[in-house]
Amino acid sequence: MRQYADIVLPLFSPLYTFAVADDVQLAEGDAVAVQFGRRTLYTGIVWRLHDKRPEVKSVKTVSRKLYDKPLLTPMQMRFWEWISDYYMCTLGEVMRFALPAMTKPRGRDDEAFVRDEYRPRTTSVVLLSRMPEGEEADRLRRRAPRQAALLDMVAAEGEVPRSRCGAAALSALLDKGYVRVEQREVKEFAALSSAPSPTLPQLSPSQTRAVKEIREGWESAPAVLLHGVSGSGKTEIYMHLAAQMLPQGDVLMLVPEIALTTQLTSRIKSLFGERAVEYHSKLSDRRRAETYMELAAGAAGRFIIGTRSALFLPLKNLRLVIVDEEHDGGYKQTEPAPRYQARDAALMLARESGALALLGSATPSLESYVRASSGKYRMVVLDERYGGAMPPVVTISDTLRAVKRGERHSHFNKELIDAISLRLERGEQVLLLQNRRGFAPYAVCGECGHTLRCRHCNVSLTLHRGGTRAFCRYCGRDEAAPDTCPVCGAKAIHPAGFGTEKVESEIMRLFPSARVLRLDSDTAPTESACKHILGSFSRGEADILVGTQIITKGLDFDRVTLAAILNADNLLAAPDFRAGERAFQTIMQFAGRGGRREVQGEVIVQTSEPQHPILLQAARGDYAAMAESQLAERREYAYPPYAHLISISLRHADERMLAAGVQCFAALLRRRFAERVFTSGVSINRGRNGHAAEVLLKIESGASMKRARTLLRETIAAFSGMAEYRNMTIICNVDV
Ligand code: ADP
Ligand code: ZN
Repeated sequence: MRQYADIVLPLFSPLYTFAVADDVQLAEGDAVAVQFGRRTLYTGIVWRLHDKRPEVKSVKTVSRKLYDKPLLTPMQMRFWEWISDYYMCTLGEVMRFALPAMTKPRGRDDEAFVRDEYRPRTTSVVLLSRMPEGEEADRLRRRAPRQAALLDMVAAEGEVPRSRCGAAALSALLDKGYVRVEQREVKEFAALSSAPSPTLPQLSPSQTRAVKEIREGWESAPAVLLHGVSGSGKTEIYMHLAAQMLPQGDVLMLVPEIALTTQLTSRIKSLFGERAVEYHSKLSDRRRAETYMELAAGAAGRFIIGTRSALFLPLKNLRLVIVDEEHDGGYKQTEPAPRYQARDAALMLARESGALALLGSATPSLESYVRASSGKYRMVVLDERYGGAMPPVVTISDTLRAVKRGERHSHFNKELIDAISLRLERGEQVLLLQNRRGFAPYAVCGECGHTLRCRHCNVSLTLHRGGTRAFCRYCGRDEAAPDTCPVCGAKAIHPAGFGTEKVESEIMRLFPSARVLRLDSDTAPTESACKHILGSFSRGEADILVGTQIITKGLDFDRVTLAAILNADNLLAAPDFRAGERAFQTIMQFAGRGGRREVQGEVIVQTSEPQHPILLQAARGDYAAMAESQLAERREYAYPPYAHLISISLRHADERMLAAGVQCFAALLRRRFAERVFTSGVSINRGRNGHAAEVLLKIESGASMKRARTLLRETIAAFSGMAEYRNMTIICNVDV
């Protein structure tokens, strides 16, 4: 019977059915070369094999299989299906993102395709063909002692890398037919030895207890949340658990951002040697393809450390998934599809693979915290710093009071200036965080410090049109900006904000002899520029580092004893329902950067709202209080973790067309989702990409997400079927 294959192509399209040539043996997960469209050859993935001829006139045939093993394991196929269903994209979009470019060549013709195909690197080796004997051998030894020596070496070793052979001698031996040259595939990864597990540092008593509790937690739940203050040694705990699991299979450790984990990666490499494998988007195309292929071909027992894309590697007998800094917003991919939340996807992958999962953070996401407190996961708390290091002191510095007392110079309160002077005198280092580069679009009252917020959504309002209008990014209300403060009644509402560049120039004016570095996406557009600046600062080549959020993460700086947040208002006022949680996380994480050793570190937080609950909670390091108050708000306004949000973005070149489309689409949605639909009504000009507008769906927990996705798909299909909206692009982003 004729065989057919449903094949995934790296396109925004459903599966296509091809016939399979009689002499080709295919398995599900195989990569194949197929002709699609008029003149393009693509790599496709065989998703299903069957014998049902599709109802079309002509069916194209698959004639060639790539690689001698499937490119995807059955587990990976299940994972792709889950990703594409849950995050609402096609398998083709998953394929485009998940596979390294070099593993999926395409080309206009066979020749171009073959040129692009992945091939392992090769190296030339020299082998013995024929050993001269008798007179012939004597003559060689007498007349050409170098050739004779080389020949002896080849005879003794069996196979000698060409690079070790003298060119003249080798060429003479080749001419005489004594030796020949062959190509060998280079193995990029050393084979795994059965070496004893690495020598890890001794755990402290509280770390030992945490490891024990984690293991106990896994007996009753697949996932454990390790809530450990910074400096408690979470990394050590990960290493111990990984070492225990590695003999049986792979361990995957996700980190939010590879640029900031240089210290961590080199630690893992030095401890785990050939078992350690790094994977992220900053590696070269070639390296990513090599890593993928060698993992697919090699034995289980690798320790993979990578960013969110590492979830798509061909893992073998996955035993443990660790998500470090699980609260980090960088785990959510927004562009391109699949728009997945890697922490959640990691848990899914662990569950499907029968692996254990460990989420670690000093300030867990409220999502994980709720799951852990409700018993869905287990929680293990580690609140002791390793070696008895002291927790940093957090000081809140009131900006408005400083202004009133004449104690504010540009963006610095006197308190902060004095603290910086002290550090400079002592030869210690200072970190200054300013979370904006450009203009900061939000509005505060200059009298009482109140930030304007939406009455309906509780997120901060953005001022636009010269400050005359106040706009809510969530519900889309756009109203005349009040000129009096709704709290204190003063006529003092004004737009607020300043960026890192301004801070840098001010600090140089205030401290002309200080050496200042700045780290933001302007000074460090690339990964290596970022590493360069961080490296220079940690070697003590500057006294002060000014930067955006990036300086709050990852690296420990031994010489930093002061970390200051110049304007916590814009953290608190971010137009995001997670603003409070994120502000708390930022302050706590920032506090963890410096003063980890003998000297107690200090964090100064400048704000015009010194009584803000989040700041008071951060000053006390009181995570539980923060969680309680934030969760109360989340529940009241139906935000995660009490609801799932799906954002649907509509895009079109013509603004008026888009406005009409959004109205129509929202009306269709309301028929199915009633009051769960929120439209912002405004369109964002995306330049050459046209205009975009957003519709938000809030699906309360308890309602079925599966059902919601089905209804949403139906709505999109109905909408796209309308002639006038055929060319409108619709993009869903699940769990924003
Ligand atoms: P966290 O990730 O929880 O913030 P780290 O794992 O970075 O903490 O540990 C903080 C510091 O303490 C690091 O310098 C680490 O090397 C050290 N440390 C933690 N536990 C141990 C241990 N058991 N033995 C030796 N050093 C440790
Ligand atoms: Zn609103």
